[in-house]
Amino acid sequence: MTIPVIQWHAAAWQQLQASRQQQRLPHALLLSGESGTGKAAFAAQVAASLLCEQPAADGRACGTCQACQRVAADTHPDRFRLAPEEPGKPIKVDAIRQLIQDLSLTGHYGRYRVVLLEPAEVMNANAANAFLKTLEEPPANTLLILITAAPARLPATIRSRCQPLRLKSPDRAAAAAWLSQEFSDSSRAEIELALRLAGGAPLLAARYLREEWLAARRRLLQALVNCATGHTSPLEAAGVATQLLKLDRQLPIYWMYYWVADFIRLAYDDNNIKNNDMTSDLQKLPKPVEPKALHQLLGKLQQARRLTESTVNPQLLWEDLMIDWSSLFAGQRG
Ligand SMILES: [Zn+2]
Repeated sequence: MTIPVIQWHAAAWQQLQASRQQQRLPHALLLSGESGTGKAAFAAQVAASLLCEQPAADGRACGTCQACQRVAADTHPDRFRLAPEEPGKPIKVDAIRQLIQDLSLTGHYGRYRVVLLEPAEVMNANAANAFLKTLEEPPANTLLILITAAPARLPATIRSRCQPLRLKSPDRAAAAAWLSQEFSDSSRAEIELALRLAGGAPLLAARYLREEWLAARRRLLQALVNCATGHTSPLEAAGVATQLLKLDRQLPIYWMYYWVADFIRLAYDDNNIKNNDMTSDLQKLPKPVEPKALHQLLGKLQQARRLTESTVNPQLLWEDLMIDWSSLFAGQRG
């Protein structure tokens, strides 16, 4: 079964397939586009297309041949993936050297070999230098796909040796239509909310719907409400937050950030808020609250986002944030 190309990728797909038909595929592609618009999905589809034994007329992989099965099982020997060992860490030179060695062996099926490098901008200086050599003497029948939301952060020497391909972001209506198709069990309100929280990025919104992030977010926001009204202690609220960290280390910080930002907006009668499914909860929070203290908390949340990448103890970090949040309302609780 061929997998449909996401509608807003269609132009990029056709462009690439045309190059392929003219046997003018580049050695290296710099695939850029905003976060959450499906760059990885697009690159995976290009890889599958090149490895498939019997692709469809429009280039899509058949999904059933042996090569496609291996791609699906992530065991195809001619598809290489390069990523940091851990999110937030650099791609190191050892990984690039290993890749160069692997590529020096001939392709297993005499077809294309595809390398997916994501996120490309996190190669450290040594890794980028080693990779540059591969770009200068590209191996035959190989497509190197560098995937990045921040192409400007790549060395110019690397960028200049790749063919740029920028994936478009869909407009809100196209993104919502795609999500409704993918998540037929989700309500329209859930889809709109997921898109809003994802800043309009459809693939990120899809994760909200697929991975129960919406329910997790609600638990955190409810803990914030209860903490403000004095029904939950800051330490208990911090406990709720740290339980959510197994989903993602940074997301709960973003959720609290949006929440505080929304609270400030409503105080200025600005109804353009992210958490508009919980407007009444926001409006019920004890008032008045010192605006300066709220802005300080926003600043602290920005710092906290960076701290989650370090070795900071998450329980202590969250206790600190919750104590600050709770103390904003101490005077109103009496
Ligand atoms: Zn196939």
